[in-house]
Amino acid sequence: MGRNDRERFLQLQKENPDYVGFRGNNTVVTRTPPPTTETVVCSVCQRKRNVASDSLPEDVRSYVCLQCQEDAANDAG
Ligand SMILES: [Zn+2]
Repeated sequence: MGRNDRERFLQLQKENPDYVGFRGNNTVVTRTPPPTTETVVCSVCQRKRNVASDSLPEDVRSYVCLQCQEDAANDAG
């Protein structure tokens, strides 16, 4: 920060006590909420899994957990 910049900063700060620079109050901090998870029973292995609501099928009873999906893929291969 050059001398002139600093003087301008102090001047602005004097005129506007809320002024804290370009990265101050004008910066909007967005916090992404934690993903909501639901406990779903896998239709193949019958184990309870915590699954992000976003990745649930419309019919949760048809849910197949990742482990079983991998097993199915391995069987097919
Ligand atoms: Zn499973």
